[in-house]
Amino acid sequence: MLSVLAAILMQSAPATAPMRPEDTEQWTPEPPVVTPLAAVTVPPPSDAVVLFDGKDLAQWASEDGSPARWTVKDGVLTVAKGTGDIQTRRRFGSYQLHLEYRIPANITGSGQARGNSGLFLGATGRYMGYELQILDSYRNKTYVNGQAGSIYKQFPPLANPTRPPGEWQSYDVVWTAPTFASDGSLRSPAYVTAFLNGVLVQDHEALRGETLYIGKPAYHAHGALPIKLQDHGDPSEPISFRNIWVRAIGN
Ligand code: MG
Repeated sequence: MLSVLAAILMQSAPATAPMRPEDTEQWTPEPPVVTPLAAVTVPPPSDAVVLFDGKDLAQWASEDGSPARWTVKDGVLTVAKGTGDIQTRRRFGSYQLHLEYRIPANITGSGQARGNSGLFLGATGRYMGYELQILDSYRNKTYVNGQAGSIYKQFPPLANPTRPPGEWQSYDVVWTAPTFASDGSLRSPAYVTAFLNGVLVQDHEALRGETLYIGKPAYHAHGALPIKLQDHGDPSEPISFRNIWVRAIGN
């Protein structure tokens, strides 16, 4: 009897070990380093919704809906560490977005703990949403699907065109929102095309789902979403933003 029981136990599938953060890190191949040309700053077109024009945070809130508490000074928006992510009061479907950011010249730390923020193309509130990574990736090694220009833990950038700390850099993004059937199943995935400092880093990439730090991404049905900027928990100096605008596409 005991031997029968032992045989049954041996045939049963072993328990699946919980996934670790490093299970979804990709370290090779490293994207080629590309030197970007002159800074790419694009003033908002006439039909853009201006999310930050250097004056105030009227378009932004904390995740709980209270006023955003990041710092606005001399036309620049800077993360106030520990005050949490900020997200747009408006919700968006598909859009074109422009944003400029600056890693401070006195940045410290290494890997993911060096100038980490993030542009969440849609913040679902469930997990993190869909993150286009912001990080100091100028001579700062990390997993390639976690460096600047990556869709975090999904797709490395096609190139590394980052500038040295202290210089302004730009993102231009086309976000095609995912669509869902009435039963909540995925009808069409999210697509991301992104330029970092004018260099293509994501080419109409079909996302696998919401960004996860641990585990495999998956979709969960949602409608229009806020856009979010990350207050990352690492101790390095906070990063700054300016000239953020968005143009809705087809809605
Ligand atoms: Mg980040």
